[in-house]
Amino acid sequence: MSFAAVDIIRAKRDGQRLTAGQIAWIVDAYTRGTVAEEQMAALAMAIFLRGLDAEETAVWTGAMIDSGDRLTLEVARPTVDKHSTGGVGDKITLPLAPLVATCGAAVPQLSGRGLGHTGGTLDKLESIPGWRAELSAAEITRQLGEVGAVVCAATEGLAPADRKLYALRDVTGTVESIPLIASSIMSKKLAEGASGLVLDVKTGSGAFMKTRARARELARILVEIGAAHGVATTAVLTAMDTPLGRAVGNAVEVAEAVEVLRGGGPPDVVALTCALAGEMLALAGLSTVDPAAVLASGQAYETWCRMIRAQGGDPGAPLPAPRHVHVVKADRDGVLATLDAYAVGVAAWRLGAGRARRGDGIQHAAGILCHAKPGEVVASGQPLLELHTDTPDAVPAALDALESAFTIADPGEARMAGDDSVIIDILRS
Ligand code: URA
Repeated sequence: MSFAAVDIIRAKRDGQRLTAGQIAWIVDAYTRGTVAEEQMAALAMAIFLRGLDAEETAVWTGAMIDSGDRLTLEVARPTVDKHSTGGVGDKITLPLAPLVATCGAAVPQLSGRGLGHTGGTLDKLESIPGWRAELSAAEITRQLGEVGAVVCAATEGLAPADRKLYALRDVTGTVESIPLIASSIMSKKLAEGASGLVLDVKTGSGAFMKTRARARELARILVEIGAAHGVATTAVLTAMDTPLGRAVGNAVEVAEAVEVLRGGGPPDVVALTCALAGEMLALAGLSTVDPAAVLASGQAYETWCRMIRAQGGDPGAPLPAPRHVHVVKADRDGVLATLDAYAVGVAAWRLGAGRARRGDGIQHAAGILCHAKPGEVVASGQPLLELHTDTPDAVPAALDALESAFTIADPGEARMAGDDSVIIDILRS
């Protein structure tokens, strides 16, 4: 059936529900270029202001999936994937995918590159010499069967409507719409074809969703869309007020992920990796396996090495080192009370770890090491942050971003370190 785009725009502008036929038509016509950018921009704004209900959102997601290919994963193991809404120092995919594969599931993790202050998994992995992000659908399936885990670039044909619409939303002030965010995330994830999905929905200064109420609403809608499409979905609400772990950037995050896979690493990264693995294994019907024990055994590190080698990388090769290091020191004795995730993310990005526009280059050695985390005792003159870059000219702008990034309080005035869990809540379908 054919519609007039302007009638659909008017209907949503006036607060009416869109029918499944209207949604399917407009998403398809926009993808093919027969609905103009300005018409879709007007509709996106109408949706931003009027919203979509649960059913409209599920149908909108389905239409975006139908705009492209669906992967068919022919593997013997249960398939389960994880997606994070993005945070600072969020390297969890790196230890998580090989860990869950070692526990018996298959993890097809199609990832993106970083934009703005949150890093991209592919940018991080590309700091490993030789590692290749682009794989064909046949290579993905083969690696899933042989290794159990693959982290690679999403193929061009996956949800092309979302690629077009996301670029439009970016320049029309319509990114921050919960139904549009939820359908954007879920169209890409559901097109990957995994039978279970765990979503890490982050909230706090370094996250997309600044408030817990909005993050909870996004989490609920994501779970509803998964259920409407027959995919078992769990959303884990996690705090992103301070960076995850101690490393923020590219090579530095890979090094931290390897520490975790070798049985060490920061407790918050280990705790979140094991919690998300537990949720993924539950969806895969493998809840009797203890991911913490598997991680401690070193077997997940062996899977990591196989996963990296399968994509041309050398897991034993030295990671790129920065040409310049600048250290920020504590200016008094006390307890580190706060270390703001957003400020650290922006500083790492300005040092060269991220890109301002799609297609820009990045520095693999750029990033920040946090030598102290909130709750830890610090002494005057002690290194707090280590800034890594290949371009020393970038340091002043990074220091500007860090101007009020941390506070040091008297002992007794700040919460002391000890609680390593960043999990706020878990929503299951
Ligand atoms: N991530 C996505 O994939 N889409 C959005 O709309 C926002 C974040």
